[in-house]
Amino acid sequence: MKREAISDVFVLNQEIHSIEHTDMFDQIRGSSIYEVIKIMDGVPLFAGEHIGRMKHSAALSGSAIPMNADEIITQIAMLVEHTQHKNINVKLVWSQSRGKDLFLTYFIRPEYPGRQAYLLGVHTILFQGERETPHMKTISSSFRERVREARKKSGAYEALLVNEVGYVTEGTRSNIFFLKEGKIYTPPAEAVLLGVTRRHVVEICETLEIEVREENLHQKELSELEGAFITGTTVDVLPIGSIDDRPIPSASEPRIQKIVACYAEGMKACVRQFKQQE
Ligand SMILES: *Cc1c(COP(=O)(O)O)cnc(C)c1O
Repeated sequence: MKREAISDVFVLNQEIHSIEHTDMFDQIRGSSIYEVIKIMDGVPLFAGEHIGRMKHSAALSGSAIPMNADEIITQIAMLVEHTQHKNINVKLVWSQSRGKDLFLTYFIRPEYPGRQAYLLGVHTILFQGERETPHMKTISSSFRERVREARKKSGAYEALLVNEVGYVTEGTRSNIFFLKEGKIYTPPAEAVLLGVTRRHVVEICETLEIEVREENLHQKELSELEGAFITGTTVDVLPIGSIDDRPIPSASEPRIQKIVACYAEGMKACVRQFKQQE
């Protein structure tokens, strides 16, 4: 885990440490709870929603994070202040080791997809698998390794998980949306990670008067799509150019382009609102 931390400092339980002091990272267990928040212009976007979900993940694991939202946001502000990184991703990791709470806050190098990806759409693959507790955002190292191998082999940006009965449920780090017969489909909330971006995108569709249906889509139906995209904190709203060997013209689809643009506006509005409160 220490490899992914960039910048020379991190915050542990509300105190700044030098990154040389990495033994704490080694105590983080594989099943730790985490969040990734995008920092834009120094502002942690939708931080309240992310922290709410982190607390919910902890509750699902049978524990509670001993810190409130303001304290967590203060830790992020400490890092921003100390490093002057203003456009980056911050990762929050919470773990318990020998009865002690470890709450780490550090910057990671985001795998932002790049301009081309948004213009053309990204390549994705189908991957047979399910996450154990869909609503819990945990670091699951072994599962992630297997998926990473498959992604690398095929040059895919993301793997889309297919469950036992053949439904395409979610990406490994993103939520999925399909455009079919002019309507947007996304798998039901019960079976997926409740993405912050997902929630915002559903709202945007309502504003744009595009019908959204929370329904499963079977992998057999993928050839009927007019478009598809994934959502997440790192990718925002990212058109899918292909799923395995099926090309999909998502990036040139006007409704998807509108959703991409509205989400970008929403992030800017969040920054403005945060700065007005300061
Ligand atoms: C983090 C994550 C997402 C995206 O959630 P956001 O809140 O939009 O960043 C989707 N699926 C999985 C499995 C995730 O871990």
